[in-house]
Amino acid sequence: MNTHRRQGIERGSEGAPLSSERSNSSEGGAAGAPLRVELDLTGATALVTGAGRGIGRSIALALAEAGADVAVNDFADEAACAAVVAEVEAFGRKGLVVMGDVSDEEQVNAMVERAEKDLGPLSVVVNNAGITRDNVAMMMDSADFDAVIATHLRGTFLVSKAAARRMFRRRTGCIINLSSVVGRRGNAGQANYAAAKAGIIGLTKSLAKELGARGVRVNAIAPGYIDTPMTQALPEETRQMIVDATPLRSIGTTDDVAAAVVYLASPAARFVTGVVLPVDGGLGI
Ligand code: NAP
Repeated sequence: MNTHRRQGIERGSEGAPLSSERSNSSEGGAAGAPLRVELDLTGATALVTGAGRGIGRSIALALAEAGADVAVNDFADEAACAAVVAEVEAFGRKGLVVMGDVSDEEQVNAMVERAEKDLGPLSVVVNNAGITRDNVAMMMDSADFDAVIATHLRGTFLVSKAAARRMFRRRTGCIINLSSVVGRRGNAGQANYAAAKAGIIGLTKSLAKELGARGVRVNAIAPGYIDTPMTQALPEETRQMIVDATPLRSIGTTDDVAAAVVYLASPAARFVTGVVLPVDGGLGI
């Protein structure tokens, strides 16, 4: 049995399908017309970068469970990607490992081409790959600044560019970029990461304006602190401070972020572009 769990949006406890319908006589829509919330991704083909573990893995699995075939990218850990592909296939979907460095244009173009050749036209691209090289700015090595900008900002640009050229021609598709609460608020010790994540917000909004007329949507998600190896490395005292500062009083799960990705990728979000959706328990308020 696949133990990967997801929260709330797609299947109720009685196994309801990936859509919900209710009578909607008073809020929006024509009186008495049903309101359909369509989260089914059957027929979609997705590429998720940095998907061998953490948030990216959960996103790949959530997309597969919602009905998408998924190309799983990572930089170094091919075995981890193969394991994620096996989990994608356990949902009855097609999976594909596409190794490559998102900051390298040639590798990016090759992996997008390979994904389309093996799985078909990409309709969903999730820019999730990321690294941290934390230090206070005065002590930060410029190579660590460059590496973080290259992976997050240049990587998101290159993958989006390769995908957008294809989606633009086909007049359909959606791109979802991982920003962060830190990109909206800044963070001591993370000037490189905050700058990259803020840059991703500008990139997202610009691409949304450039591509919207051709039916291509571009959105970002700004997670707060999510329980992954990246945050498990924080001292317990720091984790507690974060929990105390979060209105919902917890650290998020990778499934919380994956649920937002499924929503933004789905027909339910057909009129949503250029947004930065916080998934942060209220930390960014
Ligand atoms: P993670 O566990 O460290 O996973 C990041 C993945 O990205 C790894 O699998 C890594 O692969 C891959 N990667 C790194 N550099 C790459 C490159 N150049 N090309 C392709 N893949 C690359 O991180 P996470 O916590 O799941 O975070 C995922 C995303 O969410 C990141 O963009 C992060 O900034 C964002 N985010 C996370 C949090 C949080 O609290 N965790 C909060 C806000 C935003 P290798 O292992 O092979 O290097």
